Amino acid sequence: MKEKATKWRESNKEQVRLYQKEYRIKNREKLMAYDLTEKHKNHRKLWWVRNGKQYCVARNKKKHFLAMQIVSNQKVPECCRCGCKDSRALEINHKNLGGRKENLRGRLLYDAIISGKRKTDDLEITCRVCNAAHYLEKKFDIHYDITFKGLGLSQKERAVVRREMFGNGKFQ
Ligand SMILES: [Zn+2]
Repeated sequence: MKEKATKWRESNKEQVRLYQKEYRIKNREKLMAYDLTEKHKNHRKLWWVRNGKQYCVARNKKKHFLAMQIVSNQKVPECCRCGCKDSRALEINHKNLGGRKENLRGRLLYDAIISGKRKTDDLEITCRVCNAAHYLEKKFDIHYDITFKGLGLSQKERAVVRREMFGNGKFQ
């Protein structure tokens, strides 16, 4: 039913636009009054100051993790070079460099990966350290031997940290 309505709106855009215009003119005073509710505006502003950034950061972390799961095809993504599993250290790496040239970055890249618009066969998961080493190897032929020495937390403790970071959402 919802789909049908959406479809109808899509194919009758002009009609919808006219209706909305008419509605705005008819209910101008009501809408103006609504707009002018300072209390409401302030409340919204306050919410944003208090929670906005935190909300965005949490959502971005979730997207980052989900995109890494897709790229690595692992439930718990890990660095493909040293095996580091701490998601705070992990990044999506371009196998043939060129990450700086790609116009999709950060959240936009995660979105493209999650929606399937961006292919992932030229991407891999590395930790920050291996990402830098990979860059130096490719660019200047300088080589490193990097060893991951563990997380300092048990698996249980890591699960708690993860729950704090991402909530109880299930990941496939
Ligand atoms: Zn690594």
